[in-house]
Order: sequence, then C-alpha cells, then structure tokens
Amino acid sequence: MTKITVVSAHGMDWVWRSGGTILKYVKAGADVTVVCLSMGERGESASAWSEPGQTAEQVRAIRLREAEKAAAVAGVELRTYDWGDYPMVIDDERRLEMVRLLRELRPDIVLTHGRKDPNNPDHVATAQLVESAAIWARAHGRMPDAERFVVRQIHGYEPEFPEFCEFQPDRYIDISDVAEQKLEMMRCSSVQEFMIEVYEQRARYRAIMAGLFLGRRVTHAEAFESFLPAAGESF
Ligand SMILES: [Zn+2]
Repeated sequence: MTKITVVSAHGMDWVWRSGGTILKYVKAGADVTVVCLSMGERGESASAWSEPGQTAEQVRAIRLREAEKAAAVAGVELRTYDWGDYPMVIDDERRLEMVRLLRELRPDIVLTHGRKDPNNPDHVATAQLVESAAIWARAHGRMPDAERFVVRQIHGYEPEFPEFCEFQPDRYIDISDVAEQKLEMMRCSSVQEFMIEVYEQRARYRAIMAGLFLGRRVTHAEAFESFLPAAGESF
C-alpha cells in the first residue's frame, strides 16, 4: 500500500494545492496522513478577524473545523500541531519532532510546500523543515533508538503565485475524475473562499499540459515540483 504524508503549514493549504491528488491516491487505496503545523489563524484568516473581539483561539477553532471537514471528505487522517503562524518558528526540537513523525509514518511520498515563497515565510519554513527532517531521518546517529528512514520522494505543491515563487513543475497529476469532490473539499472553508476560484482556474490551466503529455482530454490537473532526484535500475 502506498503511504503518503502531506505536511502543510496552515489548515487548508493542502486542500487547494493537492486535494485532487490526495483524492486520487485515497481512491486507489493509499494511506494518506495530512499534517498541519498550524491552522493559519493569524495570517490566512482575514475575514474571521472582522468579528469584533475576535481571538486567535477562536479563529484557530474555526480553521480546525474546516480542516477536519475537508479531511473527512477526502478520507484521510488529519494530525495537527499548534505551532503558531506569522511567524512560524521552527527550532531543532520541532525538526526532531518531524524526524520522529517521518520515521513513524514511513511515507513513500511526501507532499509539502515548494522551497520558495516570498509571499509567505511560513510556507518556506515548512518546506525547509520537511527537507531537513528528511535528511536527519536517514542519519544513523540521530535518535538511534528509532529505526532510520530514507525519504525517497518529496514533491512541492503549487503556490498561489507560481511565477513569483519561481515554481517549476515537473509532475502533472490528472484530477479530472475527482474535480467535483475536490470542490467539495475546498468549500469546507468559509474563511478563505476566494482561494476556490484561484485553484479551480489553476487546475484548468495545468490540465492543458497534463492533457498534452497524456494524449487525452484532461479538464483539471495539479502541478508539483520535485525536491529530490530519483534512483533506480533504469530511467
Ligand atoms: Zn498557508
């Protein structure tokens, strides 16, 4: 069984950027775990803060409910941390927690943010966390009591502003058959509703390249950028 771990800075990042791909894998019988490091209560919840007397705790609770609803639609396990946002501070203790998590979950594929995102330092911090934890997870001498693990695939999902982030996709996943279900996942958010249009349009655009390579009609696709080279017996 394919195991996938998705590491998301904020509550719904993973839904916009990889919800369709996750749905495809779940349908194919994969075991998918989504990890949210924070709920994005401070930086990505503008409309919730228009309520008088609003607090970070209340916004976090709203965002958590949204993420839980989306995870239920997708049929994935959701694990959440409360590491804060804007800024998200990643220290060595948190890196070691990610090492522990990778060694526990032992994913075949890791999805996370791309390495560059000048518009959102939390996304960059998350990508750096995953990359460094993946290196530490394979180290024999780091937490030697926990069985070491080699992460073989890390794919960065598409940022909101791909040109600004120098996003260079090298994988296109055809999500045409789950586009409706992804829409249902996206609609679990009341706080970031505008993102539905952004990523619905993006999926239609990425479908052009996916359709060209696949030689068939593709209506929706998601794009990813690999962090790691591949090794095998052949290309
Ligand atoms: Zn985010």
